[in-house]
Amino acid sequence: MNLLLAVLLTIPPVVMYHRVDAWSPNDSISQRLTISPTQFADELRDIHRIGLRTIGIDELVRDAQHEASPERAVLLTFDDGYSDQFDYAFPILQRYGDRAVFFINTGTIGTPRHLTWPEVETMAKAGMSIECHGVDHVDLGESNVAEQTYQIDRCVSELRAHLNESVLAFAYPSGDFDAETIGVEREAGVLFGFTTDPRFQTDARSPYQIARIRVVTGMDDAYFAARLEAARAFVSLTPSSVP
Ligand SMILES: [Zn+2]
Repeated sequence: MNLLLAVLLTIPPVVMYHRVDAWSPNDSISQRLTISPTQFADELRDIHRIGLRTIGIDELVRDAQHEASPERAVLLTFDDGYSDQFDYAFPILQRYGDRAVFFINTGTIGTPRHLTWPEVETMAKAGMSIECHGVDHVDLGESNVAEQTYQIDRCVSELRAHLNESVLAFAYPSGDFDAETIGVEREAGVLFGFTTDPRFQTDARSPYQIARIRVVTGMDDAYFAARLEAARAFVSLTPSSVP
């Protein structure tokens, strides 16, 4: 795995979603982060029209190992493990033959409005990447190393135990992490850290500081497509190897 990191080349554009629901929640933050099923389907069509293919974390690893070009790839990510992701996003992904990465808090699985283990297992079997968002939704940059280790190790081990698959990616709750977080991730076998950094560029030398395009409700189609194109242009400009 250290070899893999040494040859990691470029990170394709990454899109960050939270909730896809026919109903809008009451609080304003959730409202902003909840898009309609129609908006989500429109964005998948935009992605295909631009000529991109949606990949999982396994393909990201394979691309790195084979030094393949990720120029046609895009990663769709979903945070927080809400049940609407299974009810709305998952069937739309399947209808369009797409894949996505779901960052789950293992501590909230099976609680109201959140995914259940059978739902998580169904999505994993259908080709979705199930990755870590911590046990609870705590800000790691505000936590000591023992707490960070608990949040990362336990999330990784619970997902591994239930899904019998390797867990290679972690999304920082609220985008918050510090230098110690990356050491804990490495120890746990995590290869990729996803931030909430809204820049479309990801520095190829920082696989633990991956930027994501945040999608909000009502985001204009043309704006979404332009952000993807900009991210793609950056990927194709990124040096093809990291010394
Ligand atoms: Zn979150």
